[in-house]
Amino acid sequence: MTQPSAEDNQYPTLAGFGLQDLLVDLVNAISAVKQLSEIDYQVDDENTLIRQALASLIQYQDMERCSFFIVDDDGWLTNVAGISIHELQESPASLDTPLRFKMGEGLIGTAAASGQLQYCQNCQDDKRFEKALNASHAPGSLISVPVFTYNRTLIGVLNVSHPQPNYFSDWHIRLLEVYKNILGQLITTRRLVQQMEQQIAARTAELQNLVAETNLLKDHFASMSMHDQLTGLHNRRYFYDQIEVAIAHHQRHQSSFCLLIMDIDHFKQVNDRFGHMFGDQVLIGVAGSIKKLVRNTDILVRFGGEEFVAIFTNTRCDSGKSFADRIRREIKTLEWLVGDEVVKLTMSIGLYCLTDDQHKSGKIPDIDQMINYADTALYQAKANGRDQAVTYNEVLGI
Ligand code: GH3
Ligand code: MG
Ligand code: MG
Repeated sequence: MTQPSAEDNQYPTLAGFGLQDLLVDLVNAISAVKQLSEIDYQVDDENTLIRQALASLIQYQDMERCSFFIVDDDGWLTNVAGISIHELQESPASLDTPLRFKMGEGLIGTAAASGQLQYCQNCQDDKRFEKALNASHAPGSLISVPVFTYNRTLIGVLNVSHPQPNYFSDWHIRLLEVYKNILGQLITTRRLVQQMEQQIAARTAELQNLVAETNLLKDHFASMSMHDQLTGLHNRRYFYDQIEVAIAHHQRHQSSFCLLIMDIDHFKQVNDRFGHMFGDQVLIGVAGSIKKLVRNTDILVRFGGEEFVAIFTNTRCDSGKSFADRIRREIKTLEWLVGDEVVKLTMSIGLYCLTDDQHKSGKIPDIDQMINYADTALYQAKANGRDQAVTYNEVLGI
């Protein structure tokens, strides 16, 4: 392309161009803008986006080198991307120790401070260019264009240079004006999308934390609603929840099970003599002892007051009764020291057993009936003098 001559401070005009040159330049300009508009703004980092933008510019324009200086919060302009026509095929220049300008300093700083395009037609003679002349690339001509966001916040300065003085025409200037607008929009869009993504990620993390906390709370309350706060055993609600499962299992597998009601003898006297707080400690101790004896698969709950209920699954009546006796004997070994006095306890147990052939007869009592039967047996154990286990069958004389 032939270059028109230019007067100082006056841009060269299109007048000296041939029609063919003009068309070639027009096609190149459109190609550069088209390539810029096709850049994916969702690249990993902003500098990669800027570098791609510079590459699209230099590829279709007869510029020697272009660079981008980004503005930081302190008003400094730092070189974040630079590319020369030779580097398109080679590795990019290192930006380890990037060139920096203060606002208003040099041509780049002036473009940033004024918000206006600056054209240095002969940089060798231009005082604004002193600092860059010491840098590795000392151009003949340089154009610096400030790039803005949608709302006119300065993003940085786009620079194009050529080793020849008076190289650029008003054609280049017009192209750069269009180009920097698209670049500004591209960078703004990327920043907005990034901001939104960060906000979405932050909100998502907050929501996930909230869901996790809610689940913990839900689990905590679910567990609390199924546990007795004093002894840590399961409670009556849990019992009614689980007995359905035990009965269903019995019906499916014709397996026997035993239901026990265990009641501390004369517990009221313990409270009356040593106080309610001491009574609480006794309940905790008794609960712990029973829990140690029963299997993990058994159901054990504090049914209320000083009464505990257990279901021994897959257990026939004779085994259930001997196990009840074992619990009873264990409770008798417990001791509490109050002053000089040793406190000891006994326990009475009533059992209702569901036999494996009861399923066949179809005569399975409902839960409340079973509890009533076990309670009747317990009543009998108390009536017989306490500290013993009695089955409902024994009450019936079977
Ligand atoms: P029996 O041998 O006939 O079972 O006599 P008992 O005194 O054990 O039976 P009773 O039902 O008359 O008394 C039960 C007592 O258990 C009465 C109540 O004060 C006490 N009790 C119930 N719940 C608690 C508790 O959470 N803590 C304490 N310390 N005592 C409780
Ligand atoms: Mg009782
Ligand atoms: Mg009692």
